[in-house]
Amino acid sequence: MTGAAGNIGYAILPRLGCGGVFGEDQPLILSMLEIPPAMPALKGVVMELQDCAFKAVVGMQATSDPNLAFKDADVVVLVGGFPRKKGMLRKDLIQKNTAIFKSMGEALNHAKPTCKVLVVANPANTNARTALQSCTKIPAQNFTCMTRLDHNRAVGQIAERLGTQVKDVGNVVIWGNHSATQYPDTAHGFVEKLGNKESINVAVNNEEYLNNEFLKTVQSRGAAIIEARGASSAMSAANAACDHLRTWLVSGTAPGEHTSMGIYSKGHYGIQKGIMYSFPVICSNGQYRVVEGLPVSSFARSKMIATQNELIQEAKDADEILKRSKL
Ligand code: NDP
Repeated sequence: MTGAAGNIGYAILPRLGCGGVFGEDQPLILSMLEIPPAMPALKGVVMELQDCAFKAVVGMQATSDPNLAFKDADVVVLVGGFPRKKGMLRKDLIQKNTAIFKSMGEALNHAKPTCKVLVVANPANTNARTALQSCTKIPAQNFTCMTRLDHNRAVGQIAERLGTQVKDVGNVVIWGNHSATQYPDTAHGFVEKLGNKESINVAVNNEEYLNNEFLKTVQSRGAAIIEARGASSAMSAANAACDHLRTWLVSGTAPGEHTSMGIYSKGHYGIQKGIMYSFPVICSNGQYRVVEGLPVSSFARSKMIATQNELIQEAKDADEILKRSKL
């Protein structure tokens, strides 16, 4: 894991250690990467992990050398990245992170060729694309980026609106970018009542709410949490990273259900190939596949295209940065 001493890394590590992702019986070697100035903080994190005495943790290493950190890794979680500072445009963020994720991609050549990669650091979709382009040994389909937090937020909002339990809500979809253009879509979702599944849209029965307030609430939830808490949503982000890994690599999705993951687009739903785009996916045996054939309304199509276009622009910006600086 990169950014291991950061807020999200700090919240992911105990979940990994106690078996909350890979199970209590799966021995883990935790390899943690930080930039040199954060190495003293990482030393403290390692001390705390020792003090947790997690039975599943059979080894640990803390390093600032990515080649060493990723050596023979089975799973890599890229959390470290240049943080968005006040007034920073998304383009500036891409500028800073493109160089970082190129070097992450190159270092990933030291991981196992079967390694599975999750990118959390923002702009997550474009960072993941830069990393996979820079890595020659791991196939593109092994790179994913996190939209599970947006997915979980959408489920939480619907459960609250309907006064039901989170466990009874399923099959929402996050399309596109992990940004304000993402499209949280309830059209294929269900809510379970007394053993019967009803469409979310029928149960909510308020198109105006679903197409406006609901979208805005999910899209801007991160900012609302910063406003309320005075700090970013590190706990729910870490939880979503753990959910993403567990569903993808361990439990799979439940029968009849799907989740949302940012993946390398192969053109499903007419979305441009070669960008990292969030689709509805079914996970099983450590693999995912896109749920095909969901009906798409003209409203949904316009939202899916808008978020695609943002990703195409981000990809162009990143490619331009790489070309200009001959990185
Ligand atoms: P966090 O651990 O809070 O966040 C890490 C990354 O996750 C950021 O890019 C952040 O994006 C992103 N993120 C995704 N979803 C969320 C969410 N819901 N809430 C908050 N963040 C989210 O950042 P810290 O600053 O605490 O830690 C970052 C670590 O990365 C540090 O330990 C630092 O040393 C390391 N780092 C590594 C660099 C490198 O590899 N060269 C460069 C700079 C830092 P956003 O900024 O949009 O919130």
